[in-house]
Amino acid sequence: MSINLPQINYGKLKGRVEDEQNIVYYRRGLEELSLNVTNACPNACAFCIRDRDQGWGVSNLYLSRDPSVEEIMQAYDEESEKILALGVDLKKIKICGYGEPILRFEDLKPIARHIRERDSNDNLEIQVTTTGWPYFRFISPNARRISELKEAGVSHIYLSVNALDKKNYDKLVKPGINEIDNDAFSDALNFGEGAKKAGLDVTLGFIRLGKITDEEVKSFAERYGMKYRLRDFEE
Ligand code: SF4
Repeated sequence: MSINLPQINYGKLKGRVEDEQNIVYYRRGLEELSLNVTNACPNACAFCIRDRDQGWGVSNLYLSRDPSVEEIMQAYDEESEKILALGVDLKKIKICGYGEPILRFEDLKPIARHIRERDSNDNLEIQVTTTGWPYFRFISPNARRISELKEAGVSHIYLSVNALDKKNYDKLVKPGINEIDNDAFSDALNFGEGAKKAGLDVTLGFIRLGKITDEEVKSFAERYGMKYRLRDFEE
């Protein structure tokens, strides 16, 4: 499914990286596999690694185009078979990449279903990393359809929030890029609420930037009854 975005960001290195591109990649050992499903993003985060690195040093995550669902499934199949042959059980699949995966909402469902069909481990986590708010602009005006992700087999949402209030959110994330989307911060949290209601396990993600403290993040997450993770800038 293609989506017309008024503002789209592909990162500042786009067009300058020519090495082989990776649809699947690892960052934390063989038990965690990440799927790089898009480079399109309606945000322009001040901390976006795409502007400085082609992909965590080991992979090239700059895609010349979004891979098809079939290409993603094939890349997953090939890589998961290699892992299995080593006697390692995958514990987590992260659907993320160098962009905003929720823009491919319709495609995430067959991908999640495919992974569930291939992997018999009921405890396997399938996580979508998202900023949430684009769901309400490009997929549906209400939260009802979030449950389709759960039904397809997604178990976790990592909701990248990064700020405790709208002012800092707009400054850090720049939702809408040049024309700041005024409801993005509240809709990011609305997405989290909707995902929680749909039975998904939601973690609010923050980057340790500026004056943000563990205590502030903890009490913010408690207010929403969600887990949280405050990670270091380059982690
Ligand atoms: S949401 Fe992710 S990909 Fe998009 S600009 Fe922010 S850090 Fe970069």
